Amino acid sequence: MDSLFAPWRMQWVNRERPDDEDDSGCPFCALVEQGDDRASNIVARSEYTFVLLNNMPYNPGHVMVLPYAHTGEFHTLDGRVLVDCMKTTQLVVTALNESLSPGGFNVGFNIGAAGGASITDHLHLHIIPRWESDTSFLPLTANTAVVEEAVDETYERLSDALLETAQVSAAEGNDSVRIDHG
Ligand SMILES: [Zn+2]
Repeated sequence: MDSLFAPWRMQWVNRERPDDEDDSGCPFCALVEQGDDRASNIVARSEYTFVLLNNMPYNPGHVMVLPYAHTGEFHTLDGRVLVDCMKTTQLVVTALNESLSPGGFNVGFNIGAAGGASITDHLHLHIIPRWESDTSFLPLTANTAVVEEAVDETYERLSDALLETAQVSAAEGNDSVRIDHG
Protein backbone atom coordinates (compact mmCIF):
# COMPACT_ATOMS: atom_id res chain seq x y z
CA MET A 1 0.00 0.00 0.00
CA ASP A 2 1.55 3.24 -1.14
CA SER A 3 -0.66 5.62 0.73
CA LEU A 4 -3.33 5.33 3.36
CA PHE A 5 -5.64 7.72 1.54
CA ALA A 6 -4.81 7.36 -2.10
CA PRO A 7 -7.10 9.12 -4.58
CA TRP A 8 -10.04 6.77 -5.05
CA ARG A 9 -10.63 5.83 -8.61
CA MET A 10 -14.38 5.63 -8.54
CA GLN A 11 -15.96 4.88 -11.87
CA TRP A 12 -18.49 7.64 -11.66
CA VAL A 13 -15.92 10.12 -10.46
CA ASN A 14 -13.91 9.48 -13.55
CA ARG A 15 -17.00 9.81 -15.66
CA GLU A 16 -18.56 12.88 -14.08
CA ARG A 17 -15.71 14.69 -12.41
CA PRO A 18 -16.44 18.39 -12.66
CA ASP A 19 -13.94 20.87 -13.97
CA ASP A 20 -15.47 23.80 -12.18
CA GLU A 21 -16.49 24.69 -8.63
CA ASP A 22 -20.19 24.78 -9.44
CA ASP A 23 -22.16 22.34 -7.28
CA SER A 24 -24.41 21.58 -10.25
CA GLY A 25 -21.54 19.46 -11.57
CA CYS A 26 -20.85 17.77 -8.23
CA PRO A 27 -21.48 14.01 -8.28
CA PHE A 28 -22.07 13.93 -4.51
CA CYS A 29 -24.73 16.65 -4.69
CA ALA A 30 -26.27 14.90 -7.69
CA LEU A 31 -26.59 11.64 -5.74
CA VAL A 32 -28.26 13.39 -2.80
CA GLU A 33 -30.78 15.03 -5.11
CA GLN A 34 -31.44 11.97 -7.25
CA GLY A 35 -34.29 10.77 -5.03
CA ASP A 36 -33.39 7.08 -5.09
CA ASP A 37 -30.96 6.40 -2.25
CA ARG A 38 -30.70 2.69 -2.98
CA ALA A 39 -29.61 3.36 -6.55
CA SER A 40 -27.30 6.15 -5.34
CA ASN A 41 -25.65 3.85 -2.76
CA ILE A 42 -26.66 6.26 0.01
CA VAL A 43 -27.06 4.01 3.06
CA ALA A 44 -28.27 6.55 5.61
CA ARG A 45 -29.14 10.19 6.11
CA SER A 46 -28.95 12.32 9.22
CA GLU A 47 -29.90 15.96 9.66
CA TYR A 48 -26.65 17.39 8.26
CA THR A 49 -24.83 14.43 6.73
CA PHE A 50 -25.32 11.35 4.60
CA VAL A 51 -23.52 8.01 4.36
CA LEU A 52 -22.40 6.90 0.90
CA LEU A 53 -20.88 3.58 -0.12
CA ASN A 54 -17.74 3.92 -2.17
CA ASN A 55 -18.58 2.07 -5.37
CA MET A 56 -14.91 1.34 -6.04
CA PRO A 57 -14.02 0.30 -2.52
CA TYR A 58 -10.53 -0.10 -1.21
CA ASN A 59 -11.86 -2.70 1.23
CA PRO A 60 -15.27 -4.26 1.93
CA GLY A 61 -17.36 -1.77 3.84
CA HIS A 62 -15.53 1.31 2.56
CA VAL A 63 -18.02 4.12 3.10
CA MET A 64 -17.93 7.91 3.25
CA VAL A 65 -19.71 10.38 5.51
CA LEU A 66 -20.44 13.70 3.80
CA PRO A 67 -22.06 16.97 4.80
CA TYR A 68 -24.92 18.02 2.52
CA ALA A 69 -23.14 21.36 2.30
CA HIS A 70 -21.20 21.63 -0.95
CA THR A 71 -17.81 22.79 0.27
CA GLY A 72 -14.22 21.64 0.22
CA GLU A 73 -13.21 24.01 3.00
CA PHE A 74 -13.10 22.12 6.28
CA HIS A 75 -12.63 25.28 8.33
CA THR A 76 -15.98 26.64 7.16
CA LEU A 77 -18.09 23.72 8.44
CA ASP A 78 -20.66 24.70 11.02
CA GLY A 79 -20.28 23.20 14.51
CA ARG A 80 -23.57 21.34 14.23
CA VAL A 81 -22.39 19.77 10.99
CA LEU A 82 -19.08 18.73 12.56
CA VAL A 83 -20.81 17.11 15.52
CA ASP A 84 -23.31 15.34 13.27
CA CYS A 85 -20.48 14.15 11.05
CA MET A 86 -18.55 12.58 13.94
CA LYS A 87 -21.64 11.08 15.58
CA THR A 88 -22.64 9.57 12.25
CA THR A 89 -19.09 8.26 11.81
CA GLN A 90 -19.28 6.67 15.25
CA LEU A 91 -22.57 4.94 14.37
CA VAL A 92 -21.19 3.66 11.08
CA VAL A 93 -18.00 2.35 12.69
CA THR A 94 -20.12 0.56 15.28
CA ALA A 95 -22.36 -0.92 12.60
CA LEU A 96 -19.39 -2.03 10.48
CA ASN A 97 -17.86 -3.67 13.54
CA GLU A 98 -21.07 -5.64 14.00
CA SER A 99 -21.54 -6.57 10.36
CA LEU A 100 -17.98 -7.15 9.10
CA SER A 101 -15.86 -7.68 12.24
CA PRO A 102 -12.75 -5.92 10.92
CA GLY A 103 -9.58 -5.72 12.98
CA GLY A 104 -9.47 -1.92 12.75
CA PHE A 105 -10.33 1.17 10.72
CA ASN A 106 -8.88 4.12 8.91
CA VAL A 107 -11.07 7.19 9.35
CA GLY A 108 -10.31 10.54 7.82
CA PHE A 109 -10.67 13.35 5.32
CA ASN A 110 -8.49 13.92 2.31
CA ILE A 111 -8.50 17.70 1.97
CA GLY A 112 -7.41 19.27 -1.30
CA ALA A 113 -5.80 17.64 -4.31
CA ALA A 114 -2.43 17.43 -2.58
CA GLY A 115 -4.16 15.65 0.29
CA GLY A 116 -5.39 12.99 -2.09
CA ALA A 117 -8.99 14.13 -2.54
CA SER A 118 -10.47 12.89 -5.80
CA ILE A 119 -13.22 15.49 -5.51
CA THR A 120 -11.79 18.60 -3.91
CA ASP A 121 -14.86 20.80 -3.58
CA HIS A 122 -17.14 18.55 -1.50
CA LEU A 123 -15.68 17.21 1.75
CA HIS A 124 -16.03 13.48 2.37
CA LEU A 125 -14.79 11.48 5.33
CA HIS A 126 -13.55 7.99 4.47
CA ILE A 127 -14.28 5.06 6.79
CA ILE A 128 -12.23 2.05 5.72
CA PRO A 129 -12.44 -1.24 7.62
CA ARG A 130 -9.04 -2.91 7.92
CA TRP A 131 -7.90 -6.46 8.49
CA GLU A 132 -4.44 -7.54 9.56
CA SER A 133 -3.83 -9.37 6.33
CA ASP A 134 -5.46 -6.98 3.88
CA THR A 135 -3.39 -5.46 1.15
CA SER A 136 -5.96 -4.66 -1.46
CA PHE A 137 -9.52 -5.93 -1.51
CA LEU A 138 -9.96 -5.37 -5.21
CA PRO A 139 -7.36 -4.05 -7.56
CA LEU A 140 -8.36 -1.02 -9.57
CA THR A 141 -8.69 -3.21 -12.62
CA ALA A 142 -11.17 -5.55 -10.91
CA ASN A 143 -14.18 -6.80 -12.78
CA THR A 144 -16.98 -4.25 -12.40
CA ALA A 145 -19.62 -6.91 -11.72
CA VAL A 146 -17.63 -8.24 -8.78
CA VAL A 147 -17.35 -4.77 -7.29
CA GLU A 148 -21.06 -4.07 -7.71
CA GLU A 149 -21.97 -7.35 -6.06
CA ALA A 150 -19.71 -6.56 -3.10
CA VAL A 151 -21.16 -3.06 -2.77
CA ASP A 152 -24.74 -4.39 -2.86
CA GLU A 153 -23.97 -6.87 -0.11
CA THR A 154 -22.31 -4.19 1.99
CA TYR A 155 -25.34 -1.93 1.56
CA GLU A 156 -27.67 -4.57 3.02
CA ARG A 157 -25.35 -5.54 5.84
CA LEU A 158 -24.66 -1.97 6.88
CA SER A 159 -28.32 -0.95 6.70
CA ASP A 160 -29.32 -3.92 8.85
CA ALA A 161 -26.59 -3.22 11.39
CA LEU A 162 -27.48 0.48 11.61
CA LEU A 163 -31.10 -0.45 12.26
CA GLU A 164 -29.97 -2.31 15.37
CA THR A 165 -29.17 1.03 17.01
CA ALA A 166 -31.74 3.24 18.73
CA GLN A 167 -30.90 6.34 16.67
CA VAL A 168 -31.76 4.72 13.35
CA SER A 169 -35.21 4.20 11.84
CA ALA A 170 -36.24 2.17 8.81
CA ALA A 171 -36.27 3.37 5.24
CA GLU A 172 -39.47 3.99 3.33
CA GLY A 173 -39.70 3.38 -0.38
CA ASN A 174 -36.46 4.32 -2.09
CA ASP A 175 -35.19 6.20 0.96
CA SER A 176 -32.20 5.20 3.05
CA VAL A 177 -32.38 4.59 6.78
CA ARG A 178 -32.69 7.73 8.93
CA ILE A 179 -30.32 8.69 11.69
CA ASP A 180 -31.58 10.92 14.49
CA HIS A 181 -28.82 11.98 16.88
CA GLY A 182 -31.41 13.63 19.13
ZN1 LIG B 1 -21.35 18.83 -3.78
